[in-house]
Amino acid sequence: MSVLLVKNFIGGVFVEPVACLDSFEPATGKLFASIPDSSADSVDCAVAAARSAFEHWSSTPIAKRADLLLKLADAIEENADELAELESRDQGKPLWLAKAVDIPRAVTNFRLFARAVPHQTGKSKVQEEFSAVNWTEREAVGVCGLISPWNLPLYLLTFKMAPALMAGNTIVCKPSEMTSVTAFKLCHLVSRVGFPPGVVNVVFGTGPGVGERLVSHPDVPVVSFTGSTVTGKRIAMAAAPFMKKLSLEMGGKNAGIIFDDVDLETSGEGSLISTLLRSCFINQGEVCLCTSRLYVQETIFDAFLRKFVPAVRELKVGPNEVPGVFCGALVSKEHKAKVLHYVGVAKNEGGVLHCGHGVDELVLPEGYENGYYVQPTVISGLDETSSCITEEIFGPVVTVSKFTDEADAISKANAVEYGLCASVWSKNVSTCMRMSRALKVGTVWVNCWMVRCLDMPFGGVKASGRGREGIEESMEFYTESKTICLKY
Ligand code: NAD
Repeated sequence: MSVLLVKNFIGGVFVEPVACLDSFEPATGKLFASIPDSSADSVDCAVAAARSAFEHWSSTPIAKRADLLLKLADAIEENADELAELESRDQGKPLWLAKAVDIPRAVTNFRLFARAVPHQTGKSKVQEEFSAVNWTEREAVGVCGLISPWNLPLYLLTFKMAPALMAGNTIVCKPSEMTSVTAFKLCHLVSRVGFPPGVVNVVFGTGPGVGERLVSHPDVPVVSFTGSTVTGKRIAMAAAPFMKKLSLEMGGKNAGIIFDDVDLETSGEGSLISTLLRSCFINQGEVCLCTSRLYVQETIFDAFLRKFVPAVRELKVGPNEVPGVFCGALVSKEHKAKVLHYVGVAKNEGGVLHCGHGVDELVLPEGYENGYYVQPTVISGLDETSSCITEEIFGPVVTVSKFTDEADAISKANAVEYGLCASVWSKNVSTCMRMSRALKVGTVWVNCWMVRCLDMPFGGVKASGRGREGIEESMEFYTESKTICLKY
């Protein structure tokens, strides 16, 4: 397959890149796409295009905006197979996962906001004593800068695009430089379904080249970011002097807490072990919500490992399109090195490596030897201060530690700087309620994981985030509320 040439989409036009970056296919390590290494000039052009489209788009009737989003959702669905193949080749994830989750979720994102937002109403209050009536109206803010990461490329970008557009804003998107291809394909669909030029703009390139200019551009009053905490902090500092509206969805170090009354014997979908396999290793562990620390009550610690480790060993690792593969390749050579660094730390600190990297042999089909694969790895015996337990690894590595009682589990789970999500496993409803309330996170899943309800607010606390995404929450973020008082 020839190398794909990605172009910026500015003011409804595809722009020839001046300089390019190489983007590699994780499964093989071979060159996959050439993407624009855009500079501040391209961002300035895109912001100017978005500004000039704003007045028309923000005054377009909401039903018409919804209609265009629904057409875009249909177009994504019609092209789902191609988009899924590109997403899995660009990111490394198994093809079945891109087909089952990434692309359908992009469709859902547009349909969800297109259908829900027109039915939202504001507040109103009559003040008899003043013969006055008050009500609120929501107004679009302006040009929104939308910055997204590489782990769920189209899924996460469209979760920002849909509410920003339904609110009447125009947008400049900056996908991750490591996974630009599906966003580029989306630009073709945006153009095809008839969005007015300048409403949707996409500028490809690096954080320093594109992201920083977007964040500090005076004509971009709203920045929504999903990515690492390090970058999020940098963005918060750069945006502060401009008083921008800022949404930050950042890293996680999520705990799964397993009490000794759980059922270790049942297998199959929905069971504890099979849910944990998903929660620790889906998408190669490259999901912000993945469980990376397991805390198991000491009374069942050994029994748990006897069930969990052989099940992890069964997970097939390999190229994205091979049937039966559960873990594909990690997104890049650099990210693989980062993940393996932590496995090395665990070894040096005397941790027990139960399976995975360095323990089990990985056999790859011919032609894939240079792909960025890491086997699902389970580690125990580390001190709670180990960087493997306190820092985000964002790969197929999970640590397993013991706890004695609820208080011990809470103190260990809450001891990290992150607070995105957690899962609690017990048959005792009172235990589950107490734990759910005590955990310092944005979402707690009880006896399940990643059952996403898009009507609910999503986001993190502590170093995992500022703000929430969701139907109401996103509309609050992407609009300004105005109160009007009329005296009669
Ligand atoms: P990253 O922070 O390196 O990059 C994210 C995006 O920010 C990319 O588009 C990047 O080019 C851009 N960027 C980098 N430096 C920038 C700067 N100075 N100014 C503006 N933009 C800049 O993150 P990543 O490695 O792409 O993604 C993985 C991280 O994302 C993990 O930490 C993961 O937990 C997090 N994540 C969080 C959520 C969530 O909802 N909380 C969801 C997915 C991923």
